[in-house]
Amino acid sequence: MVKLKGMKSTLLCLIAVTGLFSLLIHFQIQWQSKLTLVNFLVYPLLIVTAIFATQFNRSRIAILCGFWLLFLVATNSPSINTKSLMLNKQWLFLYGASLLMLLALIKDRALLSVHLVSRLIFIALFGVLTFFWLQLNQNLNSLVPQTPLWKSVSPYIPITIPLGLIGILLMWRSIKNHDLTLTALLITFIVWYLNQLSIITLPWSLIALVMSALYLLAVSTDSYYLAYRDDLTGLPTRRALNQLALSLGRKYTVAMLDIDHFKKFNDTYGHDIGDEVLKLVAARMTEVRGGGKIYRYGGEEFTIVFPRKTAEQAIPVLDKLRQSIANYDMVIRSAQRTGKTSRNVKKNNNKKVNVAVSIGVAQRAPKQSFEQALKNADLALYRAKKKGRNNVSQ
Ligand code: GH3
Ligand code: MG
Ligand code: MG
Repeated sequence: MVKLKGMKSTLLCLIAVTGLFSLLIHFQIQWQSKLTLVNFLVYPLLIVTAIFATQFNRSRIAILCGFWLLFLVATNSPSINTKSLMLNKQWLFLYGASLLMLLALIKDRALLSVHLVSRLIFIALFGVLTFFWLQLNQNLNSLVPQTPLWKSVSPYIPITIPLGLIGILLMWRSIKNHDLTLTALLITFIVWYLNQLSIITLPWSLIALVMSALYLLAVSTDSYYLAYRDDLTGLPTRRALNQLALSLGRKYTVAMLDIDHFKKFNDTYGHDIGDEVLKLVAARMTEVRGGGKIYRYGGEEFTIVFPRKTAEQAIPVLDKLRQSIANYDMVIRSAQRTGKTSRNVKKNNNKKVNVAVSIGVAQRAPKQSFEQALKNADLALYRAKKKGRNNVSQ
C-alpha cells in the first residue's frame, strides 16, 4: 500500500491558507490603504526568504522566490512593456504552472552547482514548449474537423486539461511525501490558478508577500522536523528525548529497548535488510499502548518514556510489545534492489525474518535526574540480556 505521509500536513496547510485568504478578502478595506507598504516590503521579504531557504538547503523555495521576484518586477515596472507580457496572459498562466510542476519534480540541489545550467535550460525550455503548445492548439482548430465531440472538448485542451494534470501531480506529490516544500508548491499553484482566473482578486504583491511568509514557515518547520526526527524510522530522536526530559513530572518510567543479536543479523542478511527491520520494529513500537512515548536512542536502541506511570503499570505494556515483535514475521523485499552483494550477504528475496528485543525498565526514584533514571533502565537492559534476551527486566 502506498503511504500518504504528507496527507495530514497538506490538509492542515490547505485549511490554514484557505482561512488566511478568506480573511484577506473579508478585510480588504483594512489592508487596501497599506498596499504601498506591501509593495515596498514584498521584494526584501522574497530576497530574505530566498537566502534563508538556501541556507537550509531548500533551493527550490529559493528558485520559487526568484520566479516571484521576476514576475513582480515584470508586472509592476513601468520601464518594462507590461502590455507585451500581458498580451499572452494564457501563456504566462500556463508557464507559471509548468514551472511549479518542474520544481515539484527536481531535487533540492545547491543553487550554484553544475546543475544550474541544466535547470536554466529546463526553465527556458518550458517557456518555449508552453508557447508552442498554445500556438499548436490555435492551429489545430482549423485542421481538425469540427465534430460536436471536438467542439465540446477543444476549449479545454490548451489550458484546462494541462492545468488539471499539473494540479493532480502537485497534489499527489504533496500528500505522498512528508515534505512541506511540495505542499508550498501546491498552495502556490492553487493561488496562482485562482488569481489568474480572477476567482480571487488580490494584488499580486500581496499574494507574493503571503506566499513568502508561508515559504519561511515551511522551511523552518521542515528544518525543525529534520532536527528532531530520525530519517530512517521517522521516530523522534535523542534530541527530542532530551527536550521531553525537561518537561517530565516527578513520576515516570523509562524503558530501554535493544534488538537482540542485531550485529549477527546484519552480518547474515546485510545492512539494508537490517535497516528495513529497524523500520518494522519502529512501526511495531508506535502501536505501543499505555501512553508510552517512543524515541530512537541510537543504532538499534530505542527509548520509551511513560509519563505519570509506575514500572508496574508499564511492564505489561512492554511485555506485550516484546511479544508482538518476537512473533512478527517480517517480510523483506528490498534485499536485491540496492544491487549491493557483499560477500557475507545471502540472497534473500521475499524472505520472512524474525527478531527479538530485550527491554530494561526503571521507574524514576525520588530526587533522581532523568539521566540517572535512563542509566538505571540501561542497567536493567543489561540484566535482560544476561538473562538470555527476549525478556523485560527491571
Ligand atoms: P545484543 O543482543 O547484545 O544487543 O547484540 P547486538 O549484536 O545487537 O549488539 P551490538 O550493540 O554489539 O550491535 C549492534 C549492532 O546494530 C551493530 C550494528 O551493526 C547494528 N546497527 C546499529 N545501527 C544500525 C542501523 O542504523 N542500521 C543497521 N542495519 N544496523 C545497525
Ligand atoms: Mg545495542
Ligand atoms: Mg542489540
